[in-house]
Amino acid sequence: MSIAESLAQVRARIAEASIAAGRGPDAVSLVAVSKTHPGEAVVEALAAGQLLFGENRVQEAAEKFPPLRAAHPGLRLHIIGALQTNKARDAVRIADMIESLDRPKLAVALMDAMAKEGRRPDVLVQVNVGEEAQKAGIPRAEAADFLRACREEWNLPVRGLMCIPPAEGDPRPHFAWLAGLAAREGLPILSMGMSGDFEAAIAEGATHVRVGSAIFGARG
Ligand SMILES: *Cc1c(COP(=O)(O)O)cnc(C)c1O
Repeated sequence: MSIAESLAQVRARIAEASIAAGRGPDAVSLVAVSKTHPGEAVVEALAAGQLLFGENRVQEAAEKFPPLRAAHPGLRLHIIGALQTNKARDAVRIADMIESLDRPKLAVALMDAMAKEGRRPDVLVQVNVGEEAQKAGIPRAEAADFLRACREEWNLPVRGLMCIPPAEGDPRPHFAWLAGLAAREGLPILSMGMSGDFEAAIAEGATHVRVGSAIFGARG
């Protein structure tokens, strides 16, 4: 199947899940995750009308995306992967949204980078909803305090929450928990759901789903 065909299929599934959840067909934004795939794959998706992309490595994104922006002014790039503090400035320079803020040191680095670059991309706080030792994200119990510090102490443009639930088991309770936190905190954006579970995430209120392999195929 071509990228255009896969995209059409994913879009149809998103619309169907949105309607089934009693939400409008356009309630959910599709972040096409192009990591590890070459620039030509992104060009194919752009030709099929996809303008919003996600990359998990700043270096890779910086090589792929800036050349495409001139021809596609509507292109938007989200950084969705674990971010080292020494990459904060590059991330602020190239991203329209940084979805993976998960610790105080990175918050301070992003604050400094935004001041230096004169650019304020939206930020999401990533929560380690499954409390998995190996996974990025602020622990559930620390999320509310961390959000307060991000917004009040560091003056970051925090617009929402992101999570990657455990690979095993039902993701829905994790999505529901994150949706509850977003509601309590008055945050409009909920980035949750990937190729394997985006319909469940939409049922629980996702506003953004991050879909890679269902669009671009398996990663090498
Ligand atoms: C790779 C990645 C995705 C997309 O995963 P698929 O299963 O290929 O859809 C989503 N979110 C993050 C943070 C990722 O790193």
